[in-house]
Amino acid sequence: MYTIGIDVGGMSIKAGIVKDGKISHKMVKETDANGGLDKLVEDITDLVNDIVSQNNMDINNIGTIGIGFPGVVTNKGTVTCVNLALNNAPIVNKIKEKFENTRVEVGNDANVAALAEYAYGSMKGYDTGIMITLGTGIGGGVVINGKLITGANGIGAEIGHTMISTNYYDCNCGNNGCFETFCSATAIIRYTQKLVEEGRETAIREACQNNIGNITAKMVFDAYREKDEVALEVITRFKKYLAMGLGNIVNFLDPQVISIGGGVSNASDIVLEGLTEQVKEYLPFKETEIADIVIAKFKNDAGILGASAL
Ligand SMILES: [Zn+2]
Repeated sequence: MYTIGIDVGGMSIKAGIVKDGKISHKMVKETDANGGLDKLVEDITDLVNDIVSQNNMDINNIGTIGIGFPGVVTNKGTVTCVNLALNNAPIVNKIKEKFENTRVEVGNDANVAALAEYAYGSMKGYDTGIMITLGTGIGGGVVINGKLITGANGIGAEIGHTMISTNYYDCNCGNNGCFETFCSATAIIRYTQKLVEEGRETAIREACQNNIGNITAKMVFDAYREKDEVALEVITRFKKYLAMGLGNIVNFLDPQVISIGGGVSNASDIVLEGLTEQVKEYLPFKETEIADIVIAKFKNDAGILGASAL
């Protein structure tokens, strides 16, 4: 049986036909961010019909349509996503009206990425796994015995908003001290900008052409490799808080594997170097084995693959 995975993003809606963890055909449509629920349902319906007919298939060949969203997804199949003008929108019911005989599932994008890694990627073969995505923010996904754990109300696994320490700026969620304000790509960029603005000498100043708005996390990692002092300070801070965040995860759930994804994971050598030992510093039992800490396998296809596995 084939499945269709759909990855709804702020810019594009991607759809793929998936079998045994392989995408055989992909289609992309631009997202109409202001179109609301009806337009979104129409676009997803068109994508599904087009991809099925282009593959000389029938919708009855499709076992599941899985959809990943960048927002809050409840267990009732409703979605809230400010960027897409969706507020508690009953997306599952609406799609089911179009494809009555097909299973329709929906999940939050970070959870969906975790499922992709669990089913086909870096967490395959483990029973319990947690994925964290270090990107603009920090997303989280918890998979136990093949099942995504999203909580009683579907709002769990928000690892990015667990508290780490007091920070010098507030999180988008309104609180101060969230994990993502210390360890996301945004956090790395902001802390670098702060040091540059304070007048610190660094090669990053040249790399960003004296415009701190151009600073990227990659620039900071590249400068770190050249032993730039500012980059060293930023990355040392990042690693300390990353170890704390992962320490929290181990203390709370002691999973078999923790997979790190998102743009920051491209610097995998720097991210992983000594990390396990650093994490152990935050555990009461320092001598035990802990989770394997690995780098996520999928980059752009995680959304489609994970949604197809919902
Ligand atoms: Zn927060």
